[in-house]
Amino acid sequence: DLLVVGSANADLVIGVERRPGAGETVLGSDLALHPGGKGANQAVAAARLGARTALLARVGDDAHGRLLLDSQRDAGVDTVGVLVGGAPTGVALITVDPSGDNSIVVSPGANGRLAPEDIRSATSLLHVSRVVSAQLEIPLETVVEVVRRLPEGTRFVLNPSPPRPLPEEVLAACDPLIVNEHEARVIVGGDLEGTPEDWARALLVLGPRSVVVTLGAEGALVASASAEGSTRVPSVKVEAVDTTGAGDAFTAALAWKLGTGAELAGAAAYAARVGAAAVTKAGAQVSFPTAEEVAAL
Ligand code: ADP
Repeated sequence: DLLVVGSANADLVIGVERRPGAGETVLGSDLALHPGGKGANQAVAAARLGARTALLARVGDDAHGRLLLDSQRDAGVDTVGVLVGGAPTGVALITVDPSGDNSIVVSPGANGRLAPEDIRSATSLLHVSRVVSAQLEIPLETVVEVVRRLPEGTRFVLNPSPPRPLPEEVLAACDPLIVNEHEARVIVGGDLEGTPEDWARALLVLGPRSVVVTLGAEGALVASASAEGSTRVPSVKVEAVDTTGAGDAFTAALAWKLGTGAELAGAAAYAARVGAAAVTKAGAQVSFPTAEEVAAL
């Protein structure tokens, strides 16, 4: 029911006392290797909630690619759309310092080779999906091709991360466009003034059918082009351990709920519970809750 089109990365994480300067070597902790990337994360998050989910992505013909395929299959994601080869699997090299701050270098690798042609070859996947969800860790022209190939009646959800200005054609297809404050600022392309309600209004002017602004511990805000005003979605009070992947879990849950016929505010309220559950555990994919865990929250 849900098709996620996006990135798959191997996250290589090392704890360090401090970051090396140019020409310097520092010793770090043992390496931790995790499946990641926004596309792969969203697909796992949706499948764990019970959604019938497929992933359209590209990985390398290498050990990291196999790790990603295994983690998708373990979560119950349909991997028929995961293409293999063309470049090494995408990698995020992450150092974490004692204060918990990350420094990240991303090598897009195979994600950068997920081409418009790959979307054209996968139109059958688009046709069996009620909702298609995308992010921007793959080439923008590939996202444009998704929008062009979208069957009548299939809903398109975009989290523009990492953010960049978007063509009108893509904006007009979003229902909703899901952004945090930073992403909203880049998409609006200037100063973000006033309240989140004002940001939502500024985003709607650009053409999406609806907008969701995520506000971390403050929850979220939804607004739609077809209705006046906006609706606040309360957050759930939890002990935050690690917010990595919360946005991906939120987006996946929202996309899936919309596919089941939920209206936007209701889907966002459910997604906020899923995002809150995801911050109570360390890591990204391992922190994503099942439907039972969301209900128990
Ligand atoms: P992103 O990771 O994309 O910046 P947010 O941090 O806004 O996204 O998180 C997405 C959603 O996850 C939020 O809208 C909220 O519902 C939930 N969430 C995130 N952090 C917390 C938190 N500390 N407490 C409760 N819910 C949270």
